[in-house]
Amino acid sequence: MALLITDECINCDVCEPECPNNAISQGEEIYVIDPALCTECVGHYDEPQCQQVCPVDCIPLDPSFVESKEQLQDKYNRIMAVHA
Ligand code: SF4
Ligand code: SF4
Repeated sequence: MALLITDECINCDVCEPECPNNAISQGEEIYVIDPALCTECVGHYDEPQCQQVCPVDCIPLDPSFVESKEQLQDKYNRIMAVHA
């Protein structure tokens, strides 16, 4: 699953630089995660880095984007291929 930033986000800007896939950006009101780029950090880290650093714990899994570890690994491989 990709992750989702809820409206509890306080725009602290801490998560954006931590994302290894550049999936996080400033949206119109709060930060947003591009589900096409979020791999739950699979391929980079054991834990989602944004969840680790968010001070208000507002980054749950996004139920709209259910993916297996294998699908997340495939997404990671595709992202890496684009940036190779
Ligand atoms: Fe980026 Fe990882 Fe958070 Fe997904 S889980 S948005 S890849 S830091
Ligand atoms: Fe928002 Fe949490 Fe990211 Fe800060 S770390 S910008 S509160 S989602």
